[in-house]
Amino acid sequence: MKKIIAANWKMNKNSKEAVETITELSAILNNSLPDEKEVIIFPPFISLEASTHALVSGPFQFGAQDIYPAKEGAFTGEISPSMILDAGAAWVLTGHSERRHILHENNTFVGQKTSFALACGLNVIACVGETLEEREAGKLYDVLTAQLNQTLAKLPTPLSPERLVIAYEPVWAIGTGKTANNEDIIEAHAIIRELLKDIIGTSVSQTRILYGGSVKAENASEIIKLENVDGLLVGGASLKAESFAKIICA
Ligand code: PEP
Repeated sequence: MKKIIAANWKMNKNSKEAVETITELSAILNNSLPDEKEVIIFPPFISLEASTHALVSGPFQFGAQDIYPAKEGAFTGEISPSMILDAGAAWVLTGHSERRHILHENNTFVGQKTSFALACGLNVIACVGETLEEREAGKLYDVLTAQLNQTLAKLPTPLSPERLVIAYEPVWAIGTGKTANNEDIIEAHAIIRELLKDIIGTSVSQTRILYGGSVKAENASEIIKLENVDGLLVGGASLKAESFAKIICA
């Protein structure tokens, strides 16, 4: 399966800025991607449709940073899966640590979003990861177990394995400049692969597991080669076309 390089733009870039970055990125890459790589860009909702229309035929896929798990209705401020599909995007992030910790989303809600998005036809990158406090208390395994069990509790069946991706993002490494070391990444990804075996079953070898947390051009090529690392989820270093292009080509 191709490795995924994903860009989480968080609350950055209006439509004009998003289109400019996508156009510049495409120009640097000669409008094509290295073999065996897929690139998914997650702009803010307000820039999503402009982003999906930025290039007539570009090499990038697009996604939203969140959804609400209902078809439509009285959910002020929220966005449904069908609206995201209508904007031309195919993916959504669930369980990002900023939504868990700033917006207080719990595992149950992340699970509802994940299953509803998949059932509606969106592909999902579901994020998991421990805080520094949990790591230091030796709770890595327990935290990943609870997050994965509840996030993936009600997956629609059948589900082709390429539609569900897990991102391991240790909370203490997101936006902090601290990257997990290679051993930490290998250990966490091995735990996730093992847990997925019980939850998903036979197709687990085809489930891609991304690493995210202060990935930049300088460390991307080393991290992406580690065992069980099937791609990268990049925040800060994806905002500039030049640095993100280097990560894509790493
Ligand atoms: C993220 O937002 O998913 C992320 C990993 O951010 P950063 O690369 O800035 O740490």
